[in-house]
Amino acid sequence: MLISTFKYYFKRLGGVYINGSTVLFRKPLELYSLANNCSIATFDSVDNALMYKLQGKSLADIIADWKEIVFPADRGGRGGGSGMGFSGGWPSAGGGGKESDEDFPARMNVKLSGASRSYDDMVREFTKLHGSAGREHGIVVDEAGFVSKYLHGERSSISGLTGKSNEIAIHNHPKHGWPTFSKEDVVNTALGTRRGIVAVSSTAGRGEDTAKYAGTYSFVKTAKFNASGFVKGVNSAKLSGKDYNDAVSKWLKANQKKYGYIYSFVKAK
Ligand SMILES: [Zn+2]
Repeated sequence: MLISTFKYYFKRLGGVYINGSTVLFRKPLELYSLANNCSIATFDSVDNALMYKLQGKSLADIIADWKEIVFPADRGGRGGGSGMGFSGGWPSAGGGGKESDEDFPARMNVKLSGASRSYDDMVREFTKLHGSAGREHGIVVDEAGFVSKYLHGERSSISGLTGKSNEIAIHNHPKHGWPTFSKEDVVNTALGTRRGIVAVSSTAGRGEDTAKYAGTYSFVKTAKFNASGFVKGVNSAKLSGKDYNDAVSKWLKANQKKYGYIYSFVKAK
């Protein structure tokens, strides 16, 4: 990737992954270790950041080898496991996962007629179609309900749901995973350009431990969103709850004002 191309995209992002455990935040400019929860270096310009050497290689050289800016796959969280209680850090579902298959956005857009199209209608259509699916699917949709991307992922992951600042990524969490967000879901939303993320699920086929949590989870950034503060907060969070779903939901609910996002949940009918 040309450095000029990187600079063009970086201006629009909250940050980028330099490698699996190191992020370069944009505002303020800081290289941060997710592995150790600590700042590696701060910079007063992107050019200075690009000259910084990480394990003997400058960020400019690392970025020059990239084909594009990539984020880890959004994974549908772990499986159920009731009665255990949950406390500790927010577990990462791990990277990897192959690229999702692209479909035609028009296949979703034709489901609603232009005049009556709305964002909520598209969420409903998507949930009807994929809310009970055995693998992950996703769309990128704007405030008027217009779909610009339609992707089919794997059993527990989807990637490539990048969107513009007025678009929200909507995806499903299959019955073998938790209905609420994975760490990657919210971290990728924080660093990326999309405005928010939604995870939908139905109660169909779910065990007792996760069926009670099925529904529509939304995480939407506000104009005051603090990307680097949020990612650091998620990365060092001490979660606690009845199980993973309960613990994550509690944390996301409690920290909305602090970091500038809106979190909501509507239970599946
Ligand atoms: Zn997800």
